[in-house]
This record gives sequence, structure tokens and C-alpha cells, in this order.
Amino acid sequence: MTDSIIKLYYDALGKGKLLGKKCDQCGEVTFPPTTACDSCGSFEQDWVELSGRGKLLYISHGMAPPPNPRFNDLAPYAYGHIKLEEDVYLQAIITGVSIDPVTLKEFFEADPVDVVPDILEVDGLNILAFKQA
Ligand SMILES: [Zn+2]
Repeated sequence: MTDSIIKLYYDALGKGKLLGKKCDQCGEVTFPPTTACDSCGSFEQDWVELSGRGKLLYISHGMAPPPNPRFNDLAPYAYGHIKLEEDVYLQAIITGVSIDPVTLKEFFEADPVDVVPDILEVDGLNILAFKQA
């Protein structure tokens, strides 16, 4: 029996690697990896390791409590929209950023900011976050 895509993804994340799937049909990268290409729906995909380098396009923070209790110790935290070098867009926690208005304004004015992964272990689960490069 082959390992699930989710298990392979999280195991790699624990080793500091970002795995996605590259489509054999259209060449687009799907991240996080799924069974079918996000762009064309093809099941013909190969594993690909992403660089992890990207640009922070937008940063904000939530006013509501974290969506899962496992994030309580991290809160309050900033999150952002990131574009990876491989032309993949995602949202993630941004570490090392104070959520005060002055700091967030500085990030807005500096956008896009170079970011790299900052993989966190939270309550036994590896979480993909990013930090300023
Ligand atoms: Zn495709």
C-alpha cells in the first residue's frame, strides 16, 4: 500500500522540504499536493520539491480566536498571502512579525517582502509558516 499524499507531504515538511505535484499535462504545480492538478484536473502528476522561496504579497492578522485550539499558544499571529517562485499562491502564518499597526504598515509599504519557510511543530503537527528572508 502506498503512503497517502497527506502523509508524504507532512513527513517531508518535518524534514524541511516542501513537496508539491507537477502536472505532466499542463506543467503547472499544485501545492499543497492533491490527487489532481489544480489547473487542468489531470491525475498525471509527479512529485516535485519546491524551493520555498517566495514573496509576501499581503499581511494581516485575525481578530477572532484561532480556528483550532492547537494554535492558541501562537496567537496572536500575522498571516499572509505568499507567491512562491514556482508561481504557487498560498496563505500561511508569518512568524517574527508583531501585529501592531506600525509594523503591519511597514510590511504593506515594503511589499513584496522576500520570505522563506519557517516550519513549526505545533502539538505534534508540522505547520508550514514563513518568515522574512
Ligand atoms: Zn494540469
